[in-house]
Amino acid sequence: MAKLRIFIDLDGVLADFDMAAALHPDRNNKGFRPDLALNFGDLHPIPGSIDAVQALLDAGHEVFIASTAPWDQPKAWTDKRLWVGQHFPQLKKKLILTHRKDLLMGDILIDDNLWNGAKDFNGTHIHFGQNGMDWKYVIQTIDNITNLLKIK
Ligand SMILES: [Mg+2]
Repeated sequence: MAKLRIFIDLDGVLADFDMAAALHPDRNNKGFRPDLALNFGDLHPIPGSIDAVQALLDAGHEVFIASTAPWDQPKAWTDKRLWVGQHFPQLKKKLILTHRKDLLMGDILIDDNLWNGAKDFNGTHIHFGQNGMDWKYVIQTIDNITNLLKIK
């Protein structure tokens, strides 16, 4: 039985968008738009994310990906689905694409931004990338929460 329902953002939390932007051959060109230039399929998983997701699943938590794809780039919707299939096959059928993360019902949202409803999420928002919040720290934080709630 699931303990916590956890939503995980994709860009900047599971998929390493910044790294791909930093390595892009056109990165120094004027007007470079990484969001337009990058092919989502080329993104690598954020260090530690694969093991962390597995640890959450092994602990019995219910894990979903909550991501926003640009409305005017329908290809991005497909690219995200394919990327998840390639790098996180254990999250099959657990991909939610939405512009309103505040509508999600659950306990924890791990997101590196406050946009698209993240700041109004009804559970706990773990702000990934803020104050050294990497995947190791996220797992520690969720362990602390489960201990506090005595749901071990
Ligand atoms: Mg993000």
